[in-house]
Amino acid sequence: MIATIIDGKHLAKASRAQTRDRVTRFVAAHGYAPGLATVLVGGDPASEVYVRNKRRAAAEAGFVDFHRHLPAEVGEEAVAALLDEFAADQQVAGILLQLPLPVGLDRSALIERIPAAKDVDGLTTLNQGRLARGVPGLRPCTPAGVIELLDSAEVQIEGADAVVVGRSELVGHPVAELLLLRGATVTIAHSRTRDLKSATAGADILVAAAGVPGLITAAHVKPGAVVIDVGIHRTESGLRGDVRFEEVAHVAGRITPVPGGVGPMTIATLLRNTITAAEIGATGETNRDPS
Ligand code: NAP
Repeated sequence: MIATIIDGKHLAKASRAQTRDRVTRFVAAHGYAPGLATVLVGGDPASEVYVRNKRRAAAEAGFVDFHRHLPAEVGEEAVAALLDEFAADQQVAGILLQLPLPVGLDRSALIERIPAAKDVDGLTTLNQGRLARGVPGLRPCTPAGVIELLDSAEVQIEGADAVVVGRSELVGHPVAELLLLRGATVTIAHSRTRDLKSATAGADILVAAAGVPGLITAAHVKPGAVVIDVGIHRTESGLRGDVRFEEVAHVAGRITPVPGGVGPMTIATLLRNTITAAEIGATGETNRDPS
């Protein structure tokens, strides 16, 4: 048996088209186009590619591009001042501080400069706290994209045994929280987990977000399970994930490919968060659920 592919590219395309329509309606209603501010510090080549892709997708959706690229040696105060400038600019609906930051910059302090209402990456303490409590807030893009992929494949989340491999602030932890909010029984595995295979082997839903190429083998996967591969690794033979796709596809029931799975959904969710932030900012609907 070969697993059914969960096609993130197709889903992301549809989501981006919906966002483009919302941006068009926003412009008609308010007379200006909302903006996405991307802040890149230093010259990390992967980050440069990610930011370029996000800016291109945002422009295609109709957002105004407020991009700044600062040198790695820039002081923390200069980054903070730039974030403050974007925070005060009414046309800027969303602010994205590309991670990782160069050594010497305090990531947590800088993220907290972003007002929660413009935190389209869902990384501020306020938005993470809202997620932990299960109340409305902007959700982190990759985790929200994972849930959307599961929904698109009509995976039953409520009552499922879900295992998330990875507990980072950016991916693993929020994915686990979102699954929990949807009624899954969630296990989080990480680098200190003693026996990863026995932790994952019973999972109905397995989310691999460890950042270790090929970590998940056929032996980690229950026959028929849904496998979501968040990992991205550039290799000589192209992009690869945390999952050994060729062998796992013979065991899993459904699986996301790399590339073409979670990656495109991250950008689509970023754009959706940005138009949502713009709509809420323009209308002052503080009770609306942005997730
Ligand atoms: P991260 O901050 O490095 O976190 C990795 C997590 O995996 C940590 O919690 C770590 O455990 C755990 N881990 C590491 N080795 C492990 C092992 N052998 N067994 C079990 N758990 C292990 O990485 P991240 O930012 O979450 O990203 C994870 C992956 O997703 C990376 O490949 C990244 O490039 C990719 N990513 C993709 C997208 C996308 O759009 N597709 C977006 C973001 C990230 P400890 O906490 O114990 O150290």
